[in-house]
Amino acid sequence: MMAATIVRKCSLCFATARQLKSLYPMSRRLQTSSSDNEYVADIVISGGGMVGAAMACALGHEELLKHKRVILLEAAPKREFKLPEAFSNRTCTLSPATVKLLNSFGAWEEIQKMRCQPVHRMQVWDSCSNSLITFNQEEMTQELAFVAENDVILEGITRRLDAVKDKVEVWYKTKGKQYIIPGVDSSEDNSWITVHLDSGKTIKTKLLIGADGFKSAVRDASKLHVVSWDYKQAAIVATLCVSETENTVAWQRFLPTGPIAMLPLSRSISNLIWTTTPENAKYLLQVEEERFVDAVNDAFWHERDMNSVAVSVGNFLTDISKNLLQGDTSSRQLPPTVTGIQAGSRASFPLGLTHSSNYVRSRVALIGDAAHRFHPLAGQGVNLGFGDVTCLRDVLTKAVYDGSDPGSLSYLVDYETQRQRKVLPVIATIEFLQRLYNTNLTPIILLRSVGLQATNTLTFVKDRIIKEATS
Ligand SMILES: Cc1cc2nc3c(=O)[nH]c(=O)nc-3n(C[C@H](O)[C@H](O)[C@H](O)COP(=O)(O)OP(=O)(O)OC[C@H]3O[C@@H](n4cnc5c(N)ncnc54)[C@H](O)[C@@H]3O)c2cc1C
Repeated sequence: MMAATIVRKCSLCFATARQLKSLYPMSRRLQTSSSDNEYVADIVISGGGMVGAAMACALGHEELLKHKRVILLEAAPKREFKLPEAFSNRTCTLSPATVKLLNSFGAWEEIQKMRCQPVHRMQVWDSCSNSLITFNQEEMTQELAFVAENDVILEGITRRLDAVKDKVEVWYKTKGKQYIIPGVDSSEDNSWITVHLDSGKTIKTKLLIGADGFKSAVRDASKLHVVSWDYKQAAIVATLCVSETENTVAWQRFLPTGPIAMLPLSRSISNLIWTTTPENAKYLLQVEEERFVDAVNDAFWHERDMNSVAVSVGNFLTDISKNLLQGDTSSRQLPPTVTGIQAGSRASFPLGLTHSSNYVRSRVALIGDAAHRFHPLAGQGVNLGFGDVTCLRDVLTKAVYDGSDPGSLSYLVDYETQRQRKVLPVIATIEFLQRLYNTNLTPIILLRSVGLQATNTLTFVKDRIIKEATS
């Protein structure tokens, strides 16, 4: 029985190889040819940001894919990275599922050798009422997440890419200029994709993975429908000095103009992500540093937005919960005082949503921001991108194990289904929260205060939220 299966798999492999040869007969010959500038690869990944680099690394470290030639294209030059003393203002909160992926190819160890900070507790509260929600594992000893600088994450992945350079080639300073997609640019649906590079070279590939960010040219060339809008908000980021000794709590306060968050980076350094109006963002970017620090402290501490009705109802609910239900009413902690900012660390980013209605078509798959980009208020963007990497690696491994073509739509559709089941509810929840907190109307403030307070009281609901956010 087993022998028959092996024979069937081998014959399938030979059949596939024969088909591919007839499809593209000069493939192997062209692979090493540079005279005519034409190359061949099983998989091309366009975009070597955190998500694209992780994809290349995951494929390179997968035993079953070891005979596949993978090329990663990155428009930027290769960086000579040396960990600076000053912290970068671009950071991400990494979920346990992300840590698991990074661990699977050794990048997590590299990141830890550099630096990252555990998060033991999260506190989210409303500036219009006393309602709050806290998340922490028992005794606050287990990490809910980690905060790491984007540069450090990318460097950790790059070091592990170097370990598989015989299987994965990284072409830096190389931009995909034009993508010829079968079914879009030709009527033949199953022929290979041609990637024209800005260097004048051409690559033929069975599968093109678009990891080229939210303005994805791969997505545009694939004619995939996109839903997008501008939040008409900007995110101000900065590196803050804080009066802390432990600093393992992530803080987020919802203001009517948008959420302000402070994420721990070390015992005395935190990262600021402040979503606000474009006008306020402009002011915050140019005001002198002392005033900026005052504005940040004020945003975390002021009581100007308090709504008396919501405060009374919230207090009443807390009492009921404490006395009758004996629920979790984890006490409010006070955020650390900001004492200064790292010079020159302020920057502003426009915020928007871009979602591709499909993540795949024949021979194309989108991952990371190329497929989905949304509000950073839940710190989920790159985590969902890394989730795409895990899922696509598994789907492609299965395709190869089955002796199939990795660009086959029947496998890629499986990737799309699994990921949209995960991504769409996250986007819907974030959009709901974003609108819910973007108002001063008393009935809405009341509704969200009761909701937040009730969720904080019900331990099983919180456990479910943690499970969903970290898986
Ligand atoms: C203020 C802010 C805070 C955030 N905080 C968090 C957080 O806490 N947690 C979280 O999970 N997410 C967070 N995010 C989201 C996160 O930063 C993004 O989801 C993530 O950076 C997307 O990574 P990516 O690799 O998909 O895309 P990108 O980082 O955009 O990378 C795309 C890469 O493709 C390359 N490229 C583009 N075009 C081409 C081409 N034609 N050829 C070759 N290369 C090309 C680019 O040079 C780039 O390197 C935040 C976002 C913002 C704005």
